Amino acid sequence: MAGNPPRNRAARSPARRGRLSFVVRRALPERTCVGCRRRAPVHELLRIVVVAGESVSRLLPDPVRRLPGRGAHLHPDPACLELAQRRRAFGRALRFTGVVDSGELAEYIRASTVTSGHPAGRGSHSKVGRPT
Ligand SMILES: [Zn+2]
Repeated sequence: MAGNPPRNRAARSPARRGRLSFVVRRALPERTCVGCRRRAPVHELLRIVVVAGESVSRLLPDPVRRLPGRGAHLHPDPACLELAQRRRAFGRALRFTGVVDSGELAEYIRASTVTSGHPAGRGSHSKVGRPT
């Protein structure tokens, strides 16, 4: 006669199941540079979009990644730009045909290359293969 055992209210334990709420940690998102075709973290690449004009389409840099439409990714590096143009990679990546004006893009890349020197974090700057 020693009193009642305390009632065990099992309803207290939260037994919610079926919800996988853990976040899968992925590696950094990567894209392929349309110039040198190497994969790189997106933040090392410059997003490029094409703006269709009457007769000429323009390639525009999209550093804040806000412009609508398809984007191509390129190292902000004149060498990669040249490669991409030579193999018409922009047309393939951005799905357009015809004449394209890359003046603004080239200007942007040249300016960013000059101001920031060589991009930090890229170990290899030995690919300066310039045909003279
Ligand atoms: Zn590249």
